[in-house]
Amino acid sequence: MKIRDIRLTPLHCPFKQPYHWSQGVTYGAPVVLIEIETDAGVIGIGECSASPTHAPILAILEDARPRFIGQSVFDVNRLIWAYYQYGFNAKGIGRAPRYFSQAMTGIELASWDAIGKQVKLPLHQLLGGKLRESVEYFGFVQGDTPGELAAHAADLVRQGFKVLYVKVGRGNDIDIAIAGEIRKAVGAKVRLRLDANEAWDMLNARRMFEALKPFDPEFIEQPVSAATGPEGLARLRAVTDIPIAADQTVYSPEDVYDIVRCRSADVIVLGMHETCGVLRFRKAAAVAEAAGVNICIHGIFETGITTSATNQVAATIGNMDDGNQIMWQLLKEDSVLRPNLTPKNGALPVSDLPGLGFELNPDAVARAAEEYRRL
Ligand SMILES: [Mg+2]
Repeated sequence: MKIRDIRLTPLHCPFKQPYHWSQGVTYGAPVVLIEIETDAGVIGIGECSASPTHAPILAILEDARPRFIGQSVFDVNRLIWAYYQYGFNAKGIGRAPRYFSQAMTGIELASWDAIGKQVKLPLHQLLGGKLRESVEYFGFVQGDTPGELAAHAADLVRQGFKVLYVKVGRGNDIDIAIAGEIRKAVGAKVRLRLDANEAWDMLNARRMFEALKPFDPEFIEQPVSAATGPEGLARLRAVTDIPIAADQTVYSPEDVYDIVRCRSADVIVLGMHETCGVLRFRKAAAVAEAAGVNICIHGIFETGITTSATNQVAATIGNMDDGNQIMWQLLKEDSVLRPNLTPKNGALPVSDLPGLGFELNPDAVARAAEEYRRL
């Protein structure tokens, strides 16, 4: 099955409400829809994260496109890494493995979708079969003020989420108010995770771990800058009994190795847009598994296409966390028409539809493309 064309559609998918986190306020998800057209008539669909803007990702994808057209979609692993050699390594200093992975993930995901559709099997079966019937997610608390966040937290508990997750790192006073108001609203039994997204320096992190302890955080995610490396998290972990999750420090299987070797984290937060897709995500999970550490799915600014793909892969991995992240629900409308990606009691069933297991919503995609052009 040869690749006849790779269609690239830049999208801007607005959020329902402003998204508040330590790095600022964000209003929508910039993505590039990837459609791999094959000579078998099958079209594989994936997406890339288009941060910081669409232009550089589109430029890389345009540069890569001729290296894939005319080739077999069943060779995608080799094609991707051959393009890394040609497009990045051969240019010397510009090898940028993380940005390469961000750009190529959409092509990798679309290829799996095409392969699954051609052989009429869901991705989880192409990977050897699922270990679980559903994958569990946390309730992602949204809002600006502590009061708004606490009200949404209580609502998520009513929807059946057993794990809640909220952004901190917005200032010490507001962070303490956020954790306190949410704990008061949901009671002692709900598992509450806090993500500081690198906001604290080492000293402030120690101060905040003490201040947040009365609200019983299950873990605190990426409290200090990823630039401190595995050692920064390890130094903090040595002086606190609150578990630590590594997020921005980890992108690759090699990063996972460093984290477990340095005993930096109790859990690793990682998504396929960081690892360069399915195969390297599973490699990264395997490295963590060997060290007895679980992987928690990382969401970025993405649509249900990524949720669908990740849910398939997560079903095949033994050391998955039970409070993973999804982001499509933040969008005004999703690019996935079916299946319904809303977790029930915090869990999302694994789709048995072929490929990544979803059907695209062409009207929503057209509106998001129009929104991109308008902006
Ligand atoms: Mg995070």
